[in-house]
Amino acid sequence: MRTEKGKNQTPILSGSKQDQNPGGMMQLLLFDIDGTLVDTGGAGSRAMTLAFHDICGVEDAFSSISMAGMTDPTILEEAVSMARESGRHVDCNFEDVYSSYLDHLQNELRSGANPYRVLPGVTETLDELHEDPDFLLGLATGNIAEGARVKLEHGNIYHYFKFGGYGSDHGNRTHVVKRAVKRGSEYAAPRDVTRAVVIGDTPRDIIHAREAGAEVVAVASGFHSREVLAEFNPDLILDSLEEGHALWEYLSRG
Ligand SMILES: [Mg+2]
Repeated sequence: MRTEKGKNQTPILSGSKQDQNPGGMMQLLLFDIDGTLVDTGGAGSRAMTLAFHDICGVEDAFSSISMAGMTDPTILEEAVSMARESGRHVDCNFEDVYSSYLDHLQNELRSGANPYRVLPGVTETLDELHEDPDFLLGLATGNIAEGARVKLEHGNIYHYFKFGGYGSDHGNRTHVVKRAVKRGSEYAAPRDVTRAVVIGDTPRDIIHAREAGAEVVAVASGFHSREVLAEFNPDLILDSLEEGHALWEYLSRG
């Protein structure tokens, strides 16, 4: 993944706003992955379950854990503490779990056994936003960075994202968002970032975006209904990214 943007970088579009206003403002758009961009059809949780069994010796460790919106390290910590509460001795290295998880994730996705899909409207919306040089697209996800790459490459949408904050950076999602903003700001330089907008599908995306000082657009395409998301007061709610025009209007208001 690129971590810096050189001054001589070719503008995305010839004659773009970047040419006209190289010192102008830039907006960071920070996308969640599961339930926002893709539905892995259970491949992600199955891969984590298999890895936890391989490395930690506990079967079906996540059946009573609601993973939505949690970071990968927090999911593992929760599974370890639940196993210990039930009297199991669990002592495993999370790096080993991640390594096994990535192998299982690739296998699960390649096998075609899971109904993986890029969610409706996602590719079209990313295409449009990516073409506007005032927007810089990144990730703010609880997935470890390599897991994020695998999940998005499978749907051919990884190339849209120039930077990110990940579960492998921090277990606390607020810090994940802050890390994404920091990396995005470095990438955008010398242009100034005036705004960071998280796009996610769970109350946790909303809460932690706010804590990190970002705006937040909630999409009801994942694990939570529009009504549930509304209780957490996001700046905008969409049924899915098929409503890309509403997102575009919101972002254009600056
Ligand atoms: Mg999500």
